[in-house]
Amino acid sequence: MKLNESEKPLLLGIILSLFTGFILFVITDKVPSSWQRVSLPDLSNQPVKINVVHAINPRFQSLNETQYLGVLKHTQRLVKQHLNIDVEFNRVENISIETLFSYLPEHVIRAREKLIIQLNQVTEADVNDMWHSIYTSLEPFRNNPDAVIDYAQPYLINTLPVNNLEELTDRLVETLIVRGQYWYNYKVEDGKPVVDGSPYNEWVWWDSLGYGHLPYQLVITNQLVVSAERYGMATHSSLRGGITAGTTSYSKDSSNKAYIFASTFQLINNAPMLTRLRDDAAYSEQQIIEYTAALITHELGHMFYHYAHPFNKKACIMNPTPLLKYRQWVEGLDADKCQMLALPAMQPGAAKIDFNPDW
Ligand SMILES: [Zn+2]
Repeated sequence: MKLNESEKPLLLGIILSLFTGFILFVITDKVPSSWQRVSLPDLSNQPVKINVVHAINPRFQSLNETQYLGVLKHTQRLVKQHLNIDVEFNRVENISIETLFSYLPEHVIRAREKLIIQLNQVTEADVNDMWHSIYTSLEPFRNNPDAVIDYAQPYLINTLPVNNLEELTDRLVETLIVRGQYWYNYKVEDGKPVVDGSPYNEWVWWDSLGYGHLPYQLVITNQLVVSAERYGMATHSSLRGGITAGTTSYSKDSSNKAYIFASTFQLINNAPMLTRLRDDAAYSEQQIIEYTAALITHELGHMFYHYAHPFNKKACIMNPTPLLKYRQWVEGLDADKCQMLALPAMQPGAAKIDFNPDW
């Protein structure tokens, strides 16, 4: 992918600040020692029952009733196929995004608000923190960096070859900033930008909702989650300019101690940035249903088995969607082939879901 003319001056600035700040980076584990790990769920009682809600921001388009029911039905099929689990969805009435965010406890907001980075006013310290946040997620690949480099390299805004994880992190930070800033200016039908000063686009809050008494294991939303933060930044989200399609996080009241959010924004809407990051200018109704279901199935793999990400293993549902190329991703999936690979990332407990018991 070539660099846009408008992206070049900004990119130069980021490279310079990265270079000057480089020696200041100290790699430590950011998770405090008091943090605990969620245990693997008991899956002996099937079908596993999942409470699902549709949380809607009225500013954006959302799945209609037929599409929503289609997603749930298709997800049941995919979960059986890729995870060999029977699930049953217990649907509750749609809620507004405002109601959903009322579950967020004040003390967690206070504890985490400083972890948010505004991509339209990035300081040198922010660049350092984002670098660290991304590098921490790459550290498990230290002895075997090729797969994640091969996964990311084609989609970076700077096409020069990447030789190691440090260089990959530099490029991911550049890509994140340039692509993420787009949403501060891109306006939807109501004349306001997608990122409008509300908390709803911030991944930190989606990662924190489970500290409230959240009565859902699955939240499907039409909200775009696009942001940068000082912890937990993933390679695939950074490539997309900070867009997170879904996450599995701790949830204190959930039977399996986790909940999932899955966003449909990047599938339903056709902003030029989205079109640029995916393989079709617009996705058809059927594609939207299938791809949302695949996204939820990926997250259920995190929830049920605590699977990690086998980057670039295209047969596996746990390989994160490259950019927003859902068609290419779904067409490459092959549950049997993936199983035969017996990948370490797809052993139960390969990924950790952490929580802070004091919250
Ligand atoms: Zn994932």
